[in-house]
This record gives sequence, structure tokens and C-alpha cells, in this order.
Amino acid sequence: DGHAWQRALRAQFPIVTGHPELAYLDSAATAQKPRAVLYAVQSYLTTSNANAARGTYTWANRTTELVERTRERVARFLGDPRPESSAVHFTGGTTEGLRTVARDWLPGFLRDGDEIVVPDADHQANIAPWREAQRLLAREGVRIRLVPMPYQSGSGDYDHRVLAERASARTRFVATTHVHHVYGGDMNVRRIREAVGPEAVICLDAAQSVGHLPFSVAELDVDFVVFSGHKALALPGSGAVWARQARGPAFVPGGWSGTPNTVGIVSLEAALDWLEGAGLDRIERWTADLATRLTEGLRRLDAYEILGCPLSLAADTAVQRRLGIVTLRHRAIDSGDLGFILFSHGFMVRSDHHCQGDAGEKTGSVRVSLHVYNTVEEIDRLLSVLASLP
Ligand code: PMP
Repeated sequence: DGHAWQRALRAQFPIVTGHPELAYLDSAATAQKPRAVLYAVQSYLTTSNANAARGTYTWANRTTELVERTRERVARFLGDPRPESSAVHFTGGTTEGLRTVARDWLPGFLRDGDEIVVPDADHQANIAPWREAQRLLAREGVRIRLVPMPYQSGSGDYDHRVLAERASARTRFVATTHVHHVYGGDMNVRRIREAVGPEAVICLDAAQSVGHLPFSVAELDVDFVVFSGHKALALPGSGAVWARQARGPAFVPGGWSGTPNTVGIVSLEAALDWLEGAGLDRIERWTADLATRLTEGLRRLDAYEILGCPLSLAADTAVQRRLGIVTLRHRAIDSGDLGFILFSHGFMVRSDHHCQGDAGEKTGSVRVSLHVYNTVEEIDRLLSVLASLP
């Protein structure tokens, strides 16, 4: 049976197997944790808990080693071929990570008259910090022009043609998302690189891609990768910024002047090990197949509209990979109400505006987001409930 491996993986999530009457379809908000992560945290706290400090006793040394080892673990997980020349900084999540790049690094990189590209319908976490940096620099007399990166209506991808038209030699920094948290598509980072040229720094919001697909910073040709541990099966309050250090001034990772979130780091190491053991290519295929099944089912139901990229790949060359996020709207039922109706049938989904920026969707929607523990049966059951609504 081709699904046996998935059943074996699903069985490792106690909260999922403990609630067979419920279907957790909100992994883009936060993911559930496999037993290996829970055990790693318990094991650390019962054998080695101490503050990181080089020197005099075993527990503290183990903690120091853990932090250093996990920096390298993160870099290798992201497909970094030279972890020794990049930097990994631990954060509480993507929001904090993006803010850290915007506050601590960006001002030292930009010069008067530079331009930064900021997507206008991304998650707010990937919009606000760059605007804030622009405002703070303006107070010091450094004028930065903001180049809005628009979406191609209906596609769920950025409009690369418009970006190419707007970009200039002064475009030195680009904030982009890897996988969009509402539209579910892979945002074609290579095409952004083509539009802005080889000198620009690209900072990737990888909140929805780390833990969902095989990652390769080398292939993506990006300079920063920012993600949340809790969406990648680790504990809340964990996350990291990876910095390549090839363009612009060095990004100096903090951490030793205060107490690091050791249990978060322990959980992150365990989660990345678990994900690699499970196989990221298989995880990607599994969730993409479930999303395809859901999308195809929804297409047969006239009452629903699907947001973002239509599944079948456009005739256009912009072939977009779709991952495990499907966002929909019922033509007559308010999305908040639809969320409640679905929960009355045991489905946990997200229904609101999903923290999108000003150019985002004006009407709320219901987001179904998947991880490796979700099943074909859950999707089919969801489709039959959706089909039963007028
Ligand atoms: N960016 C994207 C694309 C996201 O989906 C999210 C989480 N919804 C964030 C940033 C913020 O992540 P966190 O809440 O972990 O800081």
C-alpha cells in the first residue's frame, strides 16, 4: 500500500491520533508536533538543562554545543553547501526574524537613493518591517524608494513582468515570500532574481516552505532565509534567520549575550531531523496531491471559488508549483460562518483575512492548509460536507 509510510508518520503525532473525530487543517498557522520533538524536549530538560556558557560543567557545555550544532543543522537543512561561511541567528519566529533583518542589517546596507522591493499582498510580517526601515532611514535623511511588487490577478504569483519594468540599477533589496500563505503557490524566486539582477539582496520569507519541501538556498540564490520553527513541527517561539553573507555587510548573529531559547532550539533540531528522516520530497508530494484532490473536488462545486493559482498549470511559461494550501470562498455563505459550520463537522480551518497586506483579499476566506499527517479520507469528508451546503 502506497500510503503505509504516511500512516506510519501520522501515527507519530499524538494530538492527531488522539482526536480521530477531528481533522486539523490549519498547519499554515502552526503545525502539530511528532513524538520525537516532544521526547527531545523532555530529554533535554531532564538530563542537560542549563544556560549556555563555555566552561566549567557538563550541562552548560552540552547546551553550548547544542546551540552551535543546531546553527549548522539549520544551514544544512536549508541546503547550504558552505555552512561555515554563512550565519544562523535564532529567533522566536518569522515575524521577529524579518524584523531583525530590517532593523539590524538593512540600514547598514542601504544608501540614499536605493530602492527596495516589497510585495503588496504578502503576509504583514513581510511588509511592515521594510516600510518601518524606510521610515527610520528617512529620519536620518536617507531616502529609500519602495517598489511595490504586485500580484498577477488570479494567479497567486507575483507579476514578474511588472517587477522587471519597475526594477532599476538602484534596486538593491527584495523582500519576497517563498510559498504564499493564502494562495499556496511557489513564488518563483528564480524569476525575481532574473528581474532584479545578480547584485540585489533577496530576503526570503520561508514561513510556509521550510518543512514542506526539499530546500536549496544554492538553487534559489537568495541571501536571507527566515522561518518559524513552530510551522516546521518544532515548538512555538523557535525560528531562525539564515544569512549567506555574500552581498553587503556581515549579518552578525546575536544570542550569546542573553539566554537562548534552549528548548526551542532542541525542538528545532529534533524537528529538522524528523523531517529529513520522513523525506521532504515525499512530504511535498503528499500535501500537494491532497491539495490537488481538494481543488479538483471544489471545481465540481459551483458554490465555491478558489483563490490564487488555478491548479492546472497555466499555458503561460510561469509554471507554478502548488503546495498544501487551498483557500476558498462560498459564494453565499460568509467565511466566518463557513468556518463554524466546518468545525461543527470536526474540521479545523482558518477563516478570516489571513494577515495579508493592504493589497490583499478584501473579502474573508477559508484556508485549508495541510501537513504530512493529513489524509485522503479527511479531504474526501471535507468535500462531502462542502458539497452538502446549499
Ligand atoms: N510569513 C508568512 C508567509 C506566514 O504565513 C506567517 C505565519 N502566518 C508569518 C510570516 C509569521 O510567522 P510567525 O507568526 O511565526 O512569526
